[in-house]
Amino acid sequence: MNFNNLIKNPKPYAIAASEKIKNKLRVYFSKGNKVHCEICNWNGNGFFNGKCPKCNSLPRTRLIPFSLRHFGLIKNNLNILHIAPNLNEYNYVKNTFQNIKQYDRLNIRAVPHINMEQDITKTDIAENTYDLVIVWHVLEHIVDDEKAASEIYRILKPKGNLLMSVPIYPKGNMVTYEDPSIPYEDYMKVHGHPDHCRSCGMDYCKRFEKVGFSTKLLNVYQNEDLKKYGLSKDHVVWAFNK
Ligand SMILES: [Zn+2]
Repeated sequence: MNFNNLIKNPKPYAIAASEKIKNKLRVYFSKGNKVHCEICNWNGNGFFNGKCPKCNSLPRTRLIPFSLRHFGLIKNNLNILHIAPNLNEYNYVKNTFQNIKQYDRLNIRAVPHINMEQDITKTDIAENTYDLVIVWHVLEHIVDDEKAASEIYRILKPKGNLLMSVPIYPKGNMVTYEDPSIPYEDYMKVHGHPDHCRSCGMDYCKRFEKVGFSTKLLNVYQNEDLKKYGLSKDHVVWAFNK
């Protein structure tokens, strides 16, 4: 084994192991109460490159608990659908909502914490099934997002809520841009991500209003909140009501 080469070009498992050790030290040495991660309940003196040293959550993930509280959506006895959650999001919802009647996790691919392998643009879910649907940084990957919007509307109960966030690209963009003739290889160049099929703007909510939803927007936080919960002022959340 060439150790010089290994130090210059560390293998992915070596990077992950060293990150794990660094995070353990960060948790140990950053005891305090300046910041709070609502995903894992860690308190400390600061996040590290935006990440929580205990659960590795990102600012956009920590925005889920913040916006659920902001819109008053944490209630008992709900039927919840979570579209393509990551593991942190899944654990947070499972541990936060009391007496969940049903908590479905849908993804187009089979991943360990998913219980429904389905396409959100055409599910076999009965209409009026859910009280709350959560979809976080997913719709920018779905080509037929308008079909997904009507499908979510169909499976929500009357007065049910959809909590949604997408990345706004470029920062502060007001008008959503997409062009179906752009080839997949050019997504990175045009939309800033190799798998984003559009650049979402602040008008992206109109696609949901078109299928019948009414909208509430959250994009302004107090500075103290940004700091305390490790959020980004560039992220937006919409709460849609059926
Ligand atoms: Zn955390």
